[in-house]
Order: sequence, then structure tokens, then C-alpha cells
Amino acid sequence: MTRWRYAAATDIGLVRETNQDAIFIDDSLAVVADGMGGHAAGEVASAMTIENVHEGFLTDQTVEGLLHAIESANAAVLREARDNPNRFGMGTTIVAVGLTRDKLGVVSPTLFHVGDSRVYQLRDGALRQLTEDHSVAEEWVRMGRLTPEEALNHPRRHQLTRGVGVEDTIDIDVMSINAQAGDRLLLCSDGLSNELSPEGIARLASAPVPLDQAVNNLVEAAKQSGGHDNISAVLVEFDEAEVSSKQIKRTLGTAPPPVAQISRPGSHRAKRKGGWFSWRVGVGSLLGIGIVIGFFVVLHWYAYSTYYLAPDHGVIGVYQGQPSGVLWFKPVLVAPTNYSYAQLRPADQISLNATISEPSLDAALSYAASIHSEWQASQTSSVTTTTVGTTTTTVATTTTTAKKG
Ligand code: MN
Repeated sequence: MTRWRYAAATDIGLVRETNQDAIFIDDSLAVVADGMGGHAAGEVASAMTIENVHEGFLTDQTVEGLLHAIESANAAVLREARDNPNRFGMGTTIVAVGLTRDKLGVVSPTLFHVGDSRVYQLRDGALRQLTEDHSVAEEWVRMGRLTPEEALNHPRRHQLTRGVGVEDTIDIDVMSINAQAGDRLLLCSDGLSNELSPEGIARLASAPVPLDQAVNNLVEAAKQSGGHDNISAVLVEFDEAEVSSKQIKRTLGTAPPPVAQISRPGSHRAKRKGGWFSWRVGVGSLLGIGIVIGFFVVLHWYAYSTYYLAPDHGVIGVYQGQPSGVLWFKPVLVAPTNYSYAQLRPADQISLNATISEPSLDAALSYAASIHSEWQASQTSSVTTTTVGTTTTTVATTTTTAKKG
């Protein structure tokens, strides 16, 4: 069995007018969702997500069950946003830890994550961050484009690369947690992690005080450091913990999964024994090597077969590759353009931030030119009809909704 005790709190903070965070905690599920979007849309997105995830997990307490629950939350938020123009562009982060049951009946904690809310594991006073933020700045750190220090104050550290309710497809990081009795997990929104240092979080979250007091101390400390955003903290402590027989750590989504298992070089080592056998092993090795090479050729082709547009130092950049890379094949910038990021309609800026895929370099360049000229056109024709007026309102909404933090 795996059992935990828990405490949780969410607070509006000192600056925001609404609390768009939502939290959930019970005996088998802990969730933090940080909604984004103006006109109360962020609250709708985070509340809907919590509701869907909770209901979905109630009916199927497995890894797949929780995964489907998050996918259905994604679809529900997206539908709501499409049906209500004033909720266009809303979305939410999610971190969820469910006590999932595997095929052998073992119940163990599994983490699900999209966005920049975080989960930390605490053991013997030491803090380990289990999640990697899905923000532009943090993705760039992983690509080697920024140092971790540069990312701390980077203007795009709050810009998310993934969210619930943003696109039809959603990539979800899923990870088995190896917990021991006495370990604590902290799930929090960025309103907590941005205000406190890792040392501060470690000290307050692992303090030998009752859980609800530890949670209150965390929230109060975040407020004392400025409380610039909504603050949420869910803290659980394991009384008993089991480890699943099947350890998972991968990103699950609708994108084609990277091919995980390839033959290890060691498995082709020939055993010295009789001519015929060696010959067979030799051919087998060649075949094996051929398969491995073929695998790399296909993977390389897949990794670099498309182009996409993304912001690059204030202009539209054209990249070759898959936006998040394929294994170690990272996308490369093939052509910065002369089209300024600022000279794009807000809706196109949002699409660009999410990256725009194109099948070829020519297509990418001409799409960059077209969104730039659409911006030029919008500069000259903004006072004509009521239709344009409506469009402008929608665009203004998306501008406020796209940025978090
Ligand atoms: Mn936040």
C-alpha cells in the first residue's frame, strides 16, 4: 500500500485581483492547476481541469486513467474556449500526483505534468525538483541556448511551451515517483517557486511541523517576498510507500513517440565457436549494425524533415527540425528573417510563440512574409468596418491571456 497525509492552501497573493490557481487533494490524488486567461477565463480553465481530472481518476485509478483524464480536461477546456469568444486563449498548467494501481495491484505515486507548475520531493531535508518547466526560457536552457543563470531573469521565462486547453494535442510528462515512508512531495504553482529560493522551499517544506503549518509557512513566505502571483501549495507526506514494478519516465502525447529500445552494441558480440556459427553471428552482427544505422538515418530524416517558425531575438527565426528536438537531434536555426516580432498581429505572435510548422524552407519563409504583410495591412485598415472592430477586441483579449506571471 501507499498512503499519504496531506495539507494544501491556495492564496490570491498581494497583487492579483483574482485567484486563477485551483487545487485538489484527497487520499489518492493531488493536483495544482495554474490558469491563464483574462476575464475570469483562467479560473474557468483551472477549475474545469481539476474537475475533469478528479472525475476521470475516480473511474480509472491507473496511469492510463489519469492520462486520459488530463486529455479529456484538455479537450473540455479547448471546447469551452472555442464556444465562448471571451474565453479564447485560456488554458492552464497542471501538476498531478496520483496513487496509481499497476497490473500487479501495486499502488504507487505517479506524476503528470504540463506547464511551469512544479513538484519537489523532500527527503531528509534535501529538495529535488522532479519536474522540468515547459517554458520558453527553460526549454532554451535544455537546448543549450541559455545558461540557467540567464534563464532566471529572461523575459520569456513565464511564456509556456505547453498548456492544458491550448491545442488539440497535448504532450504530458509522466514519471513514476520512488517514494519512501517519511518523504514529502510539494506541488506548487509558480507564484510560490518564483518567490522563494530552493533553499527556502527546502527548509519550510521539510520543517518538522504539522503539514498544514508547513503549507501556511510556505504561502506566508511567498507573500512576504512580494506575492506577485497567486500562490498554491499542496504538501503530502508518505506514511507508507510502495514502488511500482513498472517504472515510467517519458512524455506521452499524440506526437509520434521516440523509438526507445534499440539493440545495444554488446548484444552483437560474437561468441567464438565453430565456423558456421561464427559466420551466422557475423551476418547477424552486420544485419544488426545495418538496422542500427538504418534507425539513425530514419531518425535523422524525421528529426530534420520539417521546418518551423519561432521567435529569435526579436525577429522571426526559421528553424529546421522538430521544435522540441528528437532525442539528441536538436533543431537548428537556418535563417533569421528581417521581420520584426513586434511587427506581427498579436494572434500571430501567439502562434509564433507556440511555433508554426512548415513542410519546407520556402514555405516557412513565405509564411513569415505573409504574416508580416498581414500586420502591415492591419496597420492601415484598422478604422473601416465593425468586423475589424470585433477582431481587434478578440486580439486584445488574447494579448492579455497569452502571458503568464
Ligand atoms: Mn502563476
